[in-house]
Amino acid sequence: MRETYDLVVIGGGPGGYPAAIRAAQLGLSVAIVEPGNFGGECTNYGCIPSKALISPVESYWRVKNLPFMRGEVEVDFEGLMKWAKSIVSRTRSGVLQLLKGYGVDVYQTRGYFESSTTVRLGDGGTLRADKFVVATGTEPARIPGIEIDGAVVHDNRTILGLKKKPSTMLIIGGGYIGVEYANVFAKLGVEVHLVEMLPRLLPQMDQDVSRIIERRLRKLGVKVRTRARVESVELRESFAKARISGGEEVEADAVLVAVGRRPVTRDLGLEKAGVRLDGSGFIKVNEHMETSNPRILASGDVSGPPLLAHKAFHQAVVAAENAAGLDTAYEPMAVPEVVFTDPEVVSIGLKEEEARERGFKARAVRYPLGGSPRAAIEDSIDGFVKIVYDDDSKTLLGVQIVAPHASEIAAEAVYAIETGATLEDLALTIHPHPTISEALKEAAELALERPIHYVLRRKK
Ligand code: NAD
Repeated sequence: MRETYDLVVIGGGPGGYPAAIRAAQLGLSVAIVEPGNFGGECTNYGCIPSKALISPVESYWRVKNLPFMRGEVEVDFEGLMKWAKSIVSRTRSGVLQLLKGYGVDVYQTRGYFESSTTVRLGDGGTLRADKFVVATGTEPARIPGIEIDGAVVHDNRTILGLKKKPSTMLIIGGGYIGVEYANVFAKLGVEVHLVEMLPRLLPQMDQDVSRIIERRLRKLGVKVRTRARVESVELRESFAKARISGGEEVEADAVLVAVGRRPVTRDLGLEKAGVRLDGSGFIKVNEHMETSNPRILASGDVSGPPLLAHKAFHQAVVAAENAAGLDTAYEPMAVPEVVFTDPEVVSIGLKEEEARERGFKARAVRYPLGGSPRAAIEDSIDGFVKIVYDDDSKTLLGVQIVAPHASEIAAEAVYAIETGATLEDLALTIHPHPTISEALKEAAELALERPIHYVLRRKK
């Protein structure tokens, strides 16, 4: 392999590999440097394995709870974990195949900037390039004093190595990872304790969303504690004893720490390359994904929140195009945030309050799923679709959905917001019946005061 490239990408996750592919499509000579598994956190420890666990567990739960089912259905826990691993390795090898298919040179080792034009490799080699994309991602944040031993106390990476189904699990953090795993393990019959330090679960989401998710988790038997902290975790042989604020104690044979993430920017030599970080340790970038050194770009988690794979994919392409001399910008109006709970949760664009703060004459309507036959079929009539719009122009500004398959409807809402769709545009779009997606059209009709499947209170 050569030693000089047009572009070298550091990191093979969602912020890195799409940059390498896009740059290769644009005719650049490209290398990618990754010491671990290709696909990054998303493929190996995040989005893919968690969804590979959630999906079969949802099917199991559904079948088990249909009132007319007879006989027992059981989950072979080891088989489930193995199956999730097989999906991970399939996805991971797909990434490598794509890179090779595009002629990207792959270096499976660490990279360290010696200057803004040179990266020293872990195996002793050196790569020179005109441009670099740094996409080193984030890693699980730690709680001081709570050690991840990978046997009893886990993060989102080590939890995937569980061999045996725990009987009691303590989850610290009621964010994305915490609620997704609480849902999975509770359905597998594990006694789950979920501790969140803020007043509600999924604190970054709409209050109505948090309320439904908390209610659903409690119904599954999850012991939810909000405004609470885990003060200590003492490791015993095969379990841990945790003390929760307020004096309560919980003994659990598995603990999952899911309290957010921190950027991977140490030991990269970024200072030698003139790349500056912000106060939280993320790499500062402009809309072209250029760092303080314009020869070096950054994309994905390492360039700051939201820490989402689909945001990283998009930024990676922007970074590659700018590295290739095009003038593209990362300026999304809406980045979908999805939590794969039961039901799924989606938040896109502006919430009502945010829209007001930005000077819009914002209004919101909430269309409940109580009247949706598809929601009844899917046993999820407590969900809703909420839309936020500008009352002057009637353009759509935000959408929040709590419903089965919300993740699949999300893209329609993103598209509508990005293209400046109005309530009328949504209301005039024929949606397939019977689907949850119809609720988006009905919500627009509700805002226009002409919903068909919802009785409007008559004005006197
Ligand atoms: P998160 O930021 O979503 O949630 C962490 C939660 O932990 C917060 O609610 C926080 O208040 C709480 N917390 C922090 N310290 C605590 C403490 N000491 N005790 C109790 N609670 C505490 O982070 P996460 O759940 O670890 O997920 C990490 C990232 O991964 C997220 O930023 C998310 O974007 C991404 N992710 C995305 C998806 C998805 O897209 N479906 C799924 C999983 C993770």
